[in-house]
Formats: sequence, structure tokens, C-alpha cells
Amino acid sequence: MSKTSFVTIPAIVLAATLGASVQIQGQAPAPAAPPMAIKQVKPGLYMVTGGGGNSTVRVTDQGVILVDTKNLGDAPFNDLVAQIKTVTPQPVKHVFVTHVHQDHSGNIGRFIKAGADVITYEGLKRNLETGGADGKGYSAPAGKPDAPNVTFARDREVRLGNATVKAYHFANAHTSGDAVVHFADLRVIAFGDELVAATPNCDLPNGGSVLTYPRAIADALKLDWDMAIPGHGDNPMPRAEVEAYQRKWQAFTNKALELRKKGVAKEQIRQQIQAELPELTPWMTTGVINDMRLDAFYAELTNATK
Ligand SMILES: [Zn+2]
Repeated sequence: MSKTSFVTIPAIVLAATLGASVQIQGQAPAPAAPPMAIKQVKPGLYMVTGGGGNSTVRVTDQGVILVDTKNLGDAPFNDLVAQIKTVTPQPVKHVFVTHVHQDHSGNIGRFIKAGADVITYEGLKRNLETGGADGKGYSAPAGKPDAPNVTFARDREVRLGNATVKAYHFANAHTSGDAVVHFADLRVIAFGDELVAATPNCDLPNGGSVLTYPRAIADALKLDWDMAIPGHGDNPMPRAEVEAYQRKWQAFTNKALELRKKGVAKEQIRQQIQAELPELTPWMTTGVINDMRLDAFYAELTNATK
């Protein structure tokens, strides 16, 4: 898919991709993000909702390990730091960021400036450089998140106090820069937007993949955990819910490939999936294959069946 084809992406899709706080020139401002709130998931581990994607906070006696940094800006950064201060006086020492979208990556630079190391999968740094959709998406008006100061090629472990936390990139899913973060001792995993409570989103312009999405979740399910933090949604999700989510993805991907192999045309494939897997409507058929993603979706299937 050529870069020039992305300029027609409507503001609403672009805003959803880049995070709720982005305002597109000439459009009504996006609704304000809900206020932040922190809640305990397990002793020593909290999730912060509101102000962008969910953040995860692991408290140790030597400092805090954080996952995801909220919408770009001083106010969201200060709010997030204030939320963390309500549960510990310890400073944030290490930050993992799950993917490039500014509602998760927004304050990479502010945390680096505050003395933390900010760790991402190397694909996130590439996503930042190429700028996703039209190459300008991160520059206006919310600004572009800064690059991380630590990247990894496959996985990266951090030990702090009594905690060992490890990030993995398993496969391209929501974007080509995804990481999931595993808190082994507490049996919790933070998924970023690979896992969401509502309709999932595969950001094909930022390297997301419908084909490898189910494998990314399946690989994460091989780790030992019983509770998952979704990228969006007010509550942690038990393992059984994530297993069901993975099965839905796998059924969708299998069906899409099967239909493409049979020669079903781009114009019919969405209706055909709806007809054969009605339980995935509208989860997949309007969420993942929305009008603006249909071309890229079909192109990925075509490449895989060549
Ligand atoms: Zn996202």
C-alpha cells in the first residue's frame, strides 16, 4: 500500500488511531479524555485508567516500573505522576511503552527527562520515524512523542527491588511496534492495545497485521498469568476472557484467509465473513475491516495467498 493512499483517511479514523486527544484541523475537537483513576489489580500492581490508554504501575521498594505514558502533554504527564504518588513515594525508574500511538507513548520524553529509562520494542522507534498514516500524524496538533532511550529486538527484562518484569515482542498485531509486559511474580500481563475491552483495531498503516494478530495473543498466553490489563477498558481481564478473545481472532483470520484463497473479491469479503461468522459482527467486520482499512486488509490476505 503506497503512502499517498493514506491521506484520504477520515479524521475520525485518524483520531481513533492516534488517540482521543488528537484534534484534526477543521474538525470538531475530539471529546476530552475521561479523568484518570488508579485502582489496585493485585498487591503491588495498579492500573491507571483515563487520560489516554491504560497505564500499569508496579510498585517496589526500590522504585516504580510503569507501562504506558498517557496522552502527550504536561497535564496528562503530571496527572499520571500524581496518580502514582497516591500509592507510593518511590520514583518511576523504568517505563515500558506498548506501541506508538500517542495515547500510550505520548510522554516518553517527559519520563526520560525525569530520569527514567524508557524501553520499547525497536519496531516502535521505527513507527515513530515513519510517522504512521501520512507521516505527519504525530506532529499536529498534539505533537510527536519523543524516541525511547532503550530499545530491544525480541525481549527485555528489568529487575528492580523484589520485581522482575519482562517485555516481549511476539508478532505484529495492533502495530508493528507492539510489546506486551509480563509481571511474572504477580501473574499479570499488560497488553497495550493488542487487547481491548471494546472493538479491536488493527493499525495496518503502522504495520499492524491481521494475519499474525492471533499468534501474538497465543504466544502471550503461553506465559504464566491469570490477569491481563487491556489497553483500553476500565477493568483487568481474567485469562479465560483473553483466551476467548484469541479464539475469536483466530477464527476471523482463518476465515478471511480461507475466503481469499477461494477467490472471494474485496467487495464481498466482509459480507461473506459476516454471513459465515455472524458472532464476529460487528467486532471484526466493522472494527477491524472498516471502510478505510478494507484495501490494506485485502492486500495482506492477497500477499499471504500468493
Ligand atoms: Zn493503539
